[in-house]
Amino acid sequence: MPLFAGDLTLRGNLTIDVAVVGGGIQALLVLRKLAERYSTAMFTRSNLGAGQTAHSHAFLHQGQMVARMPELLKKLQAAKEDWDDLVPKELLHETSFYWTPKEIPFDCPWNGLVPSNASVPFRVRRPAALYEFPGHYINAHDVVSHIGAPLLSQIRRIYQIDQLGVSPNNEITFRIAADSDRTAGYRVTAKAVVFAAGAGNHRLISELTKELGYRGQQTIKAFMLIIQGKEGNALNRGQLPHHSGFFPSERIFIAPRRHNGESVWLVGDGQRFWIQHPADWLHMSARDWFRRLRVPLFDLVPELATYGKEFAWGYYEAVKAEGDHDGGFPENSPTIELLGNLPAIAVWPGLFTLAPSAACKVATQTEALIGSQVRTPAPVWPADLHPPVIERETWLDTPLWSWSEFNHLLNGSGALAS
Ligand SMILES: Cc1cc2nc3c(=O)[nH]c(=O)nc-3n(C[C@H](O)[C@H](O)[C@H](O)COP(=O)(O)OP(=O)(O)OC[C@H]3O[C@@H](n4cnc5c(N)ncnc54)[C@H](O)[C@@H]3O)c2cc1C
Repeated sequence: MPLFAGDLTLRGNLTIDVAVVGGGIQALLVLRKLAERYSTAMFTRSNLGAGQTAHSHAFLHQGQMVARMPELLKKLQAAKEDWDDLVPKELLHETSFYWTPKEIPFDCPWNGLVPSNASVPFRVRRPAALYEFPGHYINAHDVVSHIGAPLLSQIRRIYQIDQLGVSPNNEITFRIAADSDRTAGYRVTAKAVVFAAGAGNHRLISELTKELGYRGQQTIKAFMLIIQGKEGNALNRGQLPHHSGFFPSERIFIAPRRHNGESVWLVGDGQRFWIQHPADWLHMSARDWFRRLRVPLFDLVPELATYGKEFAWGYYEAVKAEGDHDGGFPENSPTIELLGNLPAIAVWPGLFTLAPSAACKVATQTEALIGSQVRTPAPVWPADLHPPVIERETWLDTPLWSWSEFNHLLNGSGALAS
């Protein structure tokens, strides 16, 4: 099936060692790693950092959510060191992270875990079981800018990729259409390709590996609640404290942000809808999602309901593309797949936190595929291929409503407030 709207006139060829497809945190970190050794180019269909990256809480998990999964716990605790090395200290924002230990064994390695005596807004059922832990988050936009800006000369925004194939000498070939002029196309030839396109990996890999019966990805629909207030601890006066929390009983995760003197909570929950075919996207409406979320959320922080008028409210839909776990939590993250005997690798970090270690593994596998001696000269970019701009985080542009408008929107009756 043709993917381009109109006829594509091929205007030239681009030859490189490694092509990276994607535009989020994972593609960027892969590019950064591979560019140390090879001539590289990255192709993205959207702004840099769009996709899951812009929708994320961007919390650097150190195991708070997965203590029952020892392998993942170890990887996440090590990943914090990757981030310390990767971004300047001022991009790692500290937060007090509150956490309840439901079903979490205490023989797991946990540094710095102390029972909390602090006065926090979370009303867990057994206050004595509330623990405090130093946590870190990043602003995805800042990190994408920091990593992406120096690499922009190797990144081009395109309209689409098609005709993925393998040449007789086992190189990967495909066509790209320029984003500025969708009738202008170029043929790309690379010794290897890395698919780091999040949810977009699925179509690309299926096209390249038609006969392999590929089944490497699961796509999950989720939502994020945005609550904006003033900075401070007095929830009854519309202030939101700068705290994070993970509450397994309530299945709620809260990550704070600061913006123009305001405090913002990004609230996620355990509702994940596994999208198995395109029409599934319509399942789990925002209303259904919020009806289920509001009960445990208001149990945990009753002031949000009692003083709901003091805050501004919004939400957005998001997609998570992960390694295939039959819809379940991707315990074996990151997922890195070698595509048969082709010089092609697909990667899903599963979590933002794991993208640096996944990039290192992809680099090692690329070297195993094509060696380290190759160095095709860098391509001279045609004038109609432009670098992308850097995306803002989704929450920054999410429309916010008053409590009554939000109730009306998500319940149709205002009954949520009662
Ligand atoms: C609501 C939510 C909250 C999250 N919270 C956290 C958290 O707190 N901590 C954490 O560690 N992780 C979190 N995650 C997970 C994390 O955001 C993702 O694991 C990570 O951002 C994935 O990055 P990526 O680069 O693989 O994918 P993406 O960011 O999705 O990037 C894929 C890119 O590929 C591009 N693309 C797609 N198709 C094509 C194509 N055909 N050609 C060219 N380009 C293409 C897209 O435009 C996009 O820019 C969260 C995710 C969501 C959705």
